[in-house]
Amino acid sequence: MDSYEKFDADVKFPPLIEQYERKIYDLRQLIEISKGLNSTLDYNILIDSILLTCMGQLQLMNAGIFLMKSIGGDKFSLHRNYKGFELDHIIDYSFNINSELIRFFETHYRSFTYNEIVGMLNVPELDVIKALKPDLVVPLQSKGEINGLIVLGDRINRGEFSEGELEYIMNIASLAGIAINNARLYEMATTDMMTRLKIHHYFQTILVEEMKRAHKYERPLSLIIADIDNFKKFNDTHGHLAGDEVLRSVASVFRDSVRLIDIASRYGGEEFAIILPKTDINEAIIVAERIRSAIESLSVSFNDRLLQVTISIGVTQYDSLIDKSRQEFIERADRALYMSKNDGKNRVSFL
Ligand code: GH3
Ligand code: MG
Ligand code: MG
Repeated sequence: MDSYEKFDADVKFPPLIEQYERKIYDLRQLIEISKGLNSTLDYNILIDSILLTCMGQLQLMNAGIFLMKSIGGDKFSLHRNYKGFELDHIIDYSFNINSELIRFFETHYRSFTYNEIVGMLNVPELDVIKALKPDLVVPLQSKGEINGLIVLGDRINRGEFSEGELEYIMNIASLAGIAINNARLYEMATTDMMTRLKIHHYFQTILVEEMKRAHKYERPLSLIIADIDNFKKFNDTHGHLAGDEVLRSVASVFRDSVRLIDIASRYGGEEFAIILPKTDINEAIIVAERIRSAIESLSVSFNDRLLQVTISIGVTQYDSLIDKSRQEFIERADRALYMSKNDGKNRVSFL
């Protein structure tokens, strides 16, 4: 007879044993969830994983998360990866980070049902929550500050949340708060603040990883390198501040022209590079041409003037037989770029 059966025979203990078993199961689950949340610094994957975990654990149909939209932003906005909620597109699902609602959660750090919140608070930002009609609102925090709110709704069995479930969801929330903070710090450390593109060092690191992947899985990988034309003269003519403004606008064309899996970076002062996984040279040339033409037709307004620049681009596809190192791959893209410069600028060349 093993010890479990011995306890099982005693009528006083089964509920306690069951409780412990439940606790152990919950803790095991939490370890798994923690591993999952810590295994990625990618924001989108992390958010999906937080929301799906909450939905799975509490059996919910809807889940969303309010987070600071950008680094140094002053608003919490509903992240676009929300699940199940039907949004009214007239409503701006965001509120100020210094709002009463956030202060409320700072002083009462626990989950609240929708009815509890509506009964206790009457502040304008609550309209955003009301519009979603969640069952439960769960605060996230890191280093003593609220860094997000999870809204959860539509329980599949319509039942009340038990004490145990509420405690459990707060445990998930504390893991999620830390994971989000880590992902944000990582984003800050790898992003150029002026252009919001990835920094040079990040580009170099990812390029090596992607070259290995391309080789291993025999899939294409392309590289775009771009440089603003005559930018020294532009600065001399219009001033450095005008130059900075144009640089920011050019960077936003790069950000908007690539897929989520592409890495657009600020390679140098007025130089940009994009890593395009799973992309062959023909597809990369199309992307490059789209960027070149978007920048050619871009007008940046600065001090009542409309400013324009052009950009030269070099494109190349990774070839493991030629590109023995990261440097060789970059150098080929660089040579293509210089072909564009030599052929009269504002054009795309490839090698
Ligand atoms: P080319 O067409 O051959 O590329 O000519 P260019 O004048 O653009 O090339 P060059 O490399 O000689 O000059 C780059 C200029 O870019 C010089 C530098 O002042 C400017 N630049 C680099 N980073 C910044 C920045 O952050 N802000 C501004 N305003 N200018 C920058
Ligand atoms: Mg340059
Ligand atoms: Mg230049």
